[in-house]
Amino acid sequence: MTTTETEDHKALRSAVAALGKRHGRTYDRETLWSEAAKLGYLGVNLPEEYGGGGGGIAELSIVLEELGAAGCPLLMMVVSPAICGTVIARFGTDAQKQEWLPALADGTRTMAFGITEPDAGSNSHRITTTARRDGSDWLLTGRKVFISGVDIADATLIVGRTEDSRTGRLKPCLFIVPRDAEGFRRHQIDMELQAVEKQFELTLDDIRLPAEALVGDEDAGLLQLFAGLNPERIMTAAFAIGMGRYALAQAITYARDRTVWNTPIGAHQAIAHPLAQAHIDLELARLMMQKAAYLYDEGDDVGAGEAANMAKYAAGEACVRAVDQAVHTLGGNGLTREFGLASLITAARVARIAPVSREMILNYVSHQTLGLPKSY
Ligand SMILES: Cc1cc2nc3c(=O)[nH]c(=O)nc-3n(C[C@H](O)[C@H](O)[C@H](O)COP(=O)(O)OP(=O)(O)OC[C@H]3O[C@@H](n4cnc5c(N)ncnc54)[C@H](O)[C@@H]3O)c2cc1C
Repeated sequence: MTTTETEDHKALRSAVAALGKRHGRTYDRETLWSEAAKLGYLGVNLPEEYGGGGGGIAELSIVLEELGAAGCPLLMMVVSPAICGTVIARFGTDAQKQEWLPALADGTRTMAFGITEPDAGSNSHRITTTARRDGSDWLLTGRKVFISGVDIADATLIVGRTEDSRTGRLKPCLFIVPRDAEGFRRHQIDMELQAVEKQFELTLDDIRLPAEALVGDEDAGLLQLFAGLNPERIMTAAFAIGMGRYALAQAITYARDRTVWNTPIGAHQAIAHPLAQAHIDLELARLMMQKAAYLYDEGDDVGAGEAANMAKYAAGEACVRAVDQAVHTLGGNGLTREFGLASLITAARVARIAPVSREMILNYVSHQTLGLPKSY
C-alpha cells in the first residue's frame, strides 16, 4: 500500500467530484443514482464479468466520499453495491450473481440490508428473525428496525437465523427478500433527518421464500456476514468524510468573506484553528479508511476488520466535529435553512451511531486489539 493515491484513483476522484458538482446540494437522488450508474461508478467494485468495474472498496469509497463532499451523498451505496453486491459476488450462486450483479452495477435495481432488530440493537448475536424449512421453501419470521431505503430497493438482504438440525442452535444466514413478498410489511420511522433515504421498521410474517433466496452456505453465515460488514464500515467512513469535507468547505468560504471587525473572521485563530484541526482529522480518517479498503481488497478480512472499525470510528468523530465547527463558524447563519448546515448536525450523528456505534468500536478495540477483559 502506498500512502499517495494512484493516478487512476486521482482521475476517478476528480471525475466523480465533477459529477457531484453538477448535482450539488439540491440533487435529485434518482437522477444522480442513474447517472452515476451509467458512468460505471455504482458498480466500480463489482466483477467485470457481471458488468462491474472490476475494482474494489477502495474505488467505491472514493465515489461515495466525493459525492458527499459535493453535498449529494448516495446513502444506498453503503448497502446496495457495498454490502449486498459484495456478499452476492463472493458467496452467491451463479444464478444469484446473474440475476443481481449486472442490475446492481447498472443501477436498475437496488438492494437494502437489514440486520438491526428492536430487541437486539448493537448485540447482533441476539437477533431472533428465524427461517425454518417448509419442504424446499423457507418461512422467515421476525422484526427489523431502522432499515434504510426499503421503499426504493427492489429487495432487502435480511440477516436471519436457521436452526441447526443436530444441535438446535441458531446460525446466522442471509436471505434475499423481494419488496413485494407476501408478509413483508414496512412502516416508515419518523426520523429527525433531512435525507432522501428513509428508515423503516419491518415486520416479516411467515414470508415464504424459495430455496434460492438463501445467499451462500447455510453453515458459513457468520463468515459471509462479515464479508459484507467490513465494506459497510469502510463506506460509512467515506460517507462521513464526504459530509465533513462538505461542511468544512462551506465554513471556509464563509470565514474568508465574512468581516465583522476589520479582518475576515477566518483571520481569527479561534475560527481558523478549529477548522484546520477538522481538516487534519478528516485527512487522518481518510488514511485509515484507505488502509482498511486496501486490506479488504487484498483479501485480508481479519486485518480489514480492525482497520474498518478504526476508520469508521475516526471518520464518524471527525465528521461530527467538522460539522459542529462549520455551523459555529457561520454564527446565526449556521442555523438558517438558507445555508443548509444545521440539518447536518443530526445527519453527522448517524456516522457515530450506525452501522456500529462509537462505543461498540471502542469495545472491539479494547478487547480484540488491547486484550482487555469484557464488561458484558
Ligand atoms: C439513519 C440510520 C440508518 C440506519 N440504516 C440501517 C440499515 O440500513 N440496516 C440496518 O440493519 N440497520 C440500520 N441502522 C441501525 C443502526 O445500525 C443501529 O442504530 C446501531 O447499530 C445501534 O443500534 P441501536 O440503535 O439499537 O442502539 P443500542 O444498541 O440500543 O445502543 C444504544 C446506546 O448504548 C450504547 N451501548 C450499547 N451496548 C453497549 C456496550 N456493551 N458498551 C457500551 N455502550 C453500549 C451504544 O453505543 C449506544 O450509544 C440505521 C440507523 C440509523 C440511525
